[in-house]
Amino acid sequence: MDLLDTLTAKGLRGEVPTREEALAVLATTDDELLDVVAAAGKVRRRWFGRRVKLNYLVNLKSGLCPEDCSYCSQRLGSKAEILKYTWLKPDQAAEAARAGVAGGAKRVCLVASGRGPTDRDIDRVTDTMAAIKDADPAVEICVCLGLLSDNQAERLKAAGADAYNHNLNTSEGTYGDIATTHTYADRVDTVQKAHGAGLSACSGLIAGMGESDEDLVDVVFALRELGSDSVPVNFLIPFEGTPLAQEWNLTPQRCLRILAMVRFVNPDTEVRIAGGREVHLRSMQPLGLHIANSIFLGDYLTSEGQAGQADLDMIKDAGFEVEGAGEATLPRHRADVAEAAQAAGGCGTAASACGSGPCGGHANAAPAPEAVADAPPAGEPGNDELRSDLVKVRRRGAGTELAPNA
Ligand code: SF4
Repeated sequence: MDLLDTLTAKGLRGEVPTREEALAVLATTDDELLDVVAAAGKVRRRWFGRRVKLNYLVNLKSGLCPEDCSYCSQRLGSKAEILKYTWLKPDQAAEAARAGVAGGAKRVCLVASGRGPTDRDIDRVTDTMAAIKDADPAVEICVCLGLLSDNQAERLKAAGADAYNHNLNTSEGTYGDIATTHTYADRVDTVQKAHGAGLSACSGLIAGMGESDEDLVDVVFALRELGSDSVPVNFLIPFEGTPLAQEWNLTPQRCLRILAMVRFVNPDTEVRIAGGREVHLRSMQPLGLHIANSIFLGDYLTSEGQAGQADLDMIKDAGFEVEGAGEATLPRHRADVAEAAQAAGGCGTAASACGSGPCGGHANAAPAPEAVADAPPAGEPGNDELRSDLVKVRRRGAGTELAPNA
């Protein structure tokens, strides 16, 4: 098929497709799906071989957020029966992180609910990072604390953070439909603050919130323009007790098309299958590994994933290998750009995007009713196929007495 030949050729050269080509990927049929996966797989292997990077989430502070992100189980007014606790102590967080690293995670993601950190919160996270790096100096730490104020990114960088996560989540055009307590521009600003301080930028999206194909393409191109080094692709987990609990708009096939589109637009960028992997890809998860080069190990912030050992078995059975601590994730030319930006203390984004984001749009996404399309596209499940039995609230790991899942 001409489209896939073109996309493969561009991806192998590290070139970005046109917007029309990206839209065409989302419009492919189920008959074409394996060809789409195979084409995206060639691009994935060109830049990332058969490596899978494992990331491990530690929820430092859970629930009780004043923001109103409609997809989130931790939002203002959420009735989701999630764990609620305030800041973990550094040794508690380090213990949780150790479980993930022992399970093969290369990166630990420290996340706290809230609009953004106070300077005291930056102190807490500084102490937590020190405790984690004392135990394992090689571990990568990504911090996700919400909207950053001036100089907070620099303080995190000086304290040893490697990356900062803050997701754009959806297109600029529909952002006001999923949250009203902050703006899309706020989120862009924080990604740029982090990148400008020399932190690797981690920023992604949530699919399944009722958005159009055009919205998905918009946000994915925006992430490319922002210079995101890793793009987490969340599939909405419709939590009971959130405004979007009834929104089941994804099939495994749709998820694979979305992942492929993200890969083609970001051929040489880390693409991570994030929240909702088990709930929406289900038995098709291994096909996702042919497209994405990164996943979360074990549980998410407020929901449970499959057993960590099942993740490791899946990787092995599908013929992939866990990326080691000594291996570079990004291809050399991308790492050079990031290092040059860090050395200059400046932003590594495309010049056209550089100007200057509450929390990162966590990997436990649950969308506003206004954002939901009137009817699902043909072939998509819609609300008549609710699979709420697949959503399991996290009851182990950080903030509990039970061992983490890693
Ligand atoms: S995504 Fe972050 S900022 Fe938004 S409601 Fe959830 S915890 Fe709060």
